[in-house]
Amino acid sequence: MKEYNFLKMQKRLCKYMDEDRFVHTMGVMYTSCALAMRYGINMEKARVAGLLHDSAKCMPNSKKLKICKRENIPVTDVEMENPFLLHAKLGVYIAREKYGVEDREILQAIRYHNTGRPEMTLLEKIIYIADYIEPNRDKAPNLPQVRRLAFVDLDESMYVILRDTLSYLEEGGGSIDRTTEKAYAFYKKIHERKESENG
Ligand code: FE
Ligand code: FE
Repeated sequence: MKEYNFLKMQKRLCKYMDEDRFVHTMGVMYTSCALAMRYGINMEKARVAGLLHDSAKCMPNSKKLKICKRENIPVTDVEMENPFLLHAKLGVYIAREKYGVEDREILQAIRYHNTGRPEMTLLEKIIYIADYIEPNRDKAPNLPQVRRLAFVDLDESMYVILRDTLSYLEEGGGSIDRTTEKAYAFYKKIHERKESENG
């Protein structure tokens, strides 16, 4: 695997982020590493994906839309109205173009960190979950339980996080991505299968 200069990448990233976002980013990076240790996947990949997952988050919305147009990145109606949703797709672009990341697994983990999807890879689940549980987070319900669960069962964690995220979005009237609904249906099925097996 390619050698990454983390200090250099962090210094660069820091220039494109506000302080809170950078603190969150460091939290996601180290939480991803811890989960990679727990589940025996490549820690460097988790570290790079965690570090770069929000690399496009602080870009002005107008610039997000401009780059999508220039790079032929498809923009849905929902994304047009809420350009912050584009930061996952654009994060892939930034990781590739500005940080030289070519690893498909890393890029996919950045791509799906916001919506999730059915049949996620281990790395995708780890980044998605780390984003939700990293130590600076404090608003989500059930955080202590989800933090513990993350180190016990990734699929069950996905189920709980997607469930809570969807109900939060429904209550707040936020727009819901179809991919998130599909992801929830997928992990709910796994949850129910386990329930019936355990009687
Ligand atoms: Fe994000
Ligand atoms: Fe994030």
